Amino acid sequence: MKNVAILGSTGSIGTQTIEVLRANPDDFRLVAISAGSNIKLLEEQIREFHPEICAVWNEDKAKELKLAVADVSPKCKIVSGMDGLIEVSVLDSSDILITAVVGMIGVTPTIAAINAGKDIGLANKETLVTAGHIIMPLAKEKGVSILPVDSEHSAIFQCLNGEKENHISRILLTASGGPFRGMTREQLSDVTLEMALKHPNWSMGKKITIDSSTMVNKGLEVIEAKWLFGVAPSEIEVVVQPQSIIHSMVEFDDGAVMAQLGTPDMRLPIQYALYYPRRVFLEGKRLEFQTLTEITFSKPNIDTFLGLKYAYKAIECGGSMPTVLNAANECAVAKFLNKEIRFLEIYDMIDFCMENHKNISSPTVEEILETERWVYEIIESRWKA
Ligand code: NDP
Ligand code: MG
Repeated sequence: MKNVAILGSTGSIGTQTIEVLRANPDDFRLVAISAGSNIKLLEEQIREFHPEICAVWNEDKAKELKLAVADVSPKCKIVSGMDGLIEVSVLDSSDILITAVVGMIGVTPTIAAINAGKDIGLANKETLVTAGHIIMPLAKEKGVSILPVDSEHSAIFQCLNGEKENHISRILLTASGGPFRGMTREQLSDVTLEMALKHPNWSMGKKITIDSSTMVNKGLEVIEAKWLFGVAPSEIEVVVQPQSIIHSMVEFDDGAVMAQLGTPDMRLPIQYALYYPRRVFLEGKRLEFQTLTEITFSKPNIDTFLGLKYAYKAIECGGSMPTVLNAANECAVAKFLNKEIRFLEIYDMIDFCMENHKNISSPTVEEILETERWVYEIIESRWKA
């Protein structure tokens, strides 16, 4: 029996993690949950799973939830704010924390969980992008496993099974290309929020769906892969594979390429991280190769979809630059989701912040958070005028 805590239990990854737990009640117990403000779903999760603790970021919503679940026995402790997220992350009884929260708000709780010796099922890529240089050595020191949940990284992780002694010659990170694949920059200037929210293959949270349309998501994933697998950026190649059937590949020194294939279903990588290294039955559609008409490949257009270009630049600079890329993107996407800016302005904001940043090499957590504040401030002042 494994005890599971979830940061972001009401989101796309959070609810799919809960589906896996629900299907395997003899193997898992949900001991801690958390969300930003969706207390309706948190209440349902408390009534179904009786976790020990639940964190709500919003303090008023936490108070409301406390009243709503006052009749539930055994009692679930309701906490709030950053202290609350940390309490969920370090809970004594938990064995693994699934980081399904969106954004770099996950940095502090994830580090707290590693310090407390918890294994991490990592979906929250923004945390690794901004603090990978702190998280990976800390995880090693504390003897905890960082198990990838992102589908590409889970695929690579699966391809590396039993290959510990062998050198990776290339990681082939697959990308769907998003809803705007094939469009020119001119065409992109007119795309709407509604168009950007229609991903061809995956149903995900809004922020990552926009990131897929700009290809910033793939850029963040290149940085995520660098930290998870200890490879140089030049050894990570992005390949567009629009059907999202090959979830990523690894090429070894002898030229052999290992790939992981499957229908697009996030429950598989979530379940793999939860059960690692075991594989158990997962109900769902299987690939039918006799009727599968095609799997196609192409090169990403990085001059139009600038997300990848900025990511390679950010890794090359290192230090606090990946934080600038990530924070500027988080700020810009929030504005795009609010219909305050146009699609291409997301790139303008990232570019402006990266151009004006004085890089800090090997930033501490405080410096990472300080850099994030700086990004929000300069975007506010530059785009107000
Ligand atoms: P969602 O937007 O669907 O869910 C985000 C979760 O985080 C919700 O539970 C939300 O709570 C919670 N949350 C937001 N802000 C806060 C806060 N301040 N404090 C506490 N909790 C908060 O996102 P996804 O599930 O799509 O993505 C989660 C992470 O996983 C991201 O980093 C994403 O890049 C990554 N990922 C997602 C994939 C997917 O298929 N969805 C695939 C691969 C990676 P509330 O509901 O109250 O707002
Ligand atoms: Mg992915």
